[in-house]
Amino acid sequence: MAASKILILGGTTEARKLAEALAPRKDLDVTVSLAGRTQEPRPLPVKTRHGGFGGVEGLAAYLKAEDIALLVDATHPFAQRMTPNAIAAAELTSTPLLCLNRPGWVAEPGDDWRMVTSIEDAVEKLGAASRRVFLAIGRQEAHLFSRAPQHFYLARSVDPIDPPIKAPDCRYILATGPFSLDDEIRLLTEHAIDVVVSKNSGGAATYAKIEAARRLGLAVVMVERKRVDGAACVDTVEGALAFIDHALAPAK
Ligand code: NAP
Repeated sequence: MAASKILILGGTTEARKLAEALAPRKDLDVTVSLAGRTQEPRPLPVKTRHGGFGGVEGLAAYLKAEDIALLVDATHPFAQRMTPNAIAAAELTSTPLLCLNRPGWVAEPGDDWRMVTSIEDAVEKLGAASRRVFLAIGRQEAHLFSRAPQHFYLARSVDPIDPPIKAPDCRYILATGPFSLDDEIRLLTEHAIDVVVSKNSGGAATYAKIEAARRLGLAVVMVERKRVDGAACVDTVEGALAFIDHALAPAK
């Protein structure tokens, strides 16, 4: 029997772990798709493709041409275009779809989170008075803080922030997680940071900054994630493996 084809929309630790778990399976033919933004992605043990599909129609055409039996959207919880595209393309082509969306972080006693629903709201939330801000929101939207040039920004990203923030006092750091609590406390203290801006991405690799903010008594402007409607969702790789076995089991 021909192996069932799975397309994983990736760019996350969970997509990598799922691909690693599925790679040895002879009954499956797995491809991971990456947006092509990270300059040097770590190699994966399955086929990979890079770059956008060309919107919903492009993804739908790919699903048909490649005869994909199951589409797994394991993109980042803040990848805002790919998830709706995946839902629409799966519907157009009647391809089963699973969303793998890791759980968000939950505030603990001692956390001082100021919830916002977008990066634009986060910019507003910083207020008029000058503050020392740690930006840990990735590279694509950091430029929106150009609207509030009165603040000092320490901006950390995996790849260079582009376009840059138009503010007179900015420092950029290139680094890839995971980050340790001690290092995060040191970084926030060295730069006299008084507020952290973060997306509620969930996951362990970048949680230390949230814990560091709690320990140091700093406010966190936390960007909430949007709900995913219109697809079956699991929040762990184990859940995805169980779904895949169920969805692709031969009919008896
Ligand atoms: P996005 O806004 O949802 O995607 C923008 C466009 O990039 C999509 O319309 C699609 O182009 C293409 N694309 C996105 N993910 C793709 C994938 N896995 N394979 C092929 N094409 C993809 O996403 P983004 O925020 O730019 O993020 C890009 C990638 O980085 C995602 O794969 C995501 O998992 C990862 N990532 C994002 C964040 C974040 O905070 N946003 C953080 C960590 C990792 P077409 O319409 O042409 O198909």
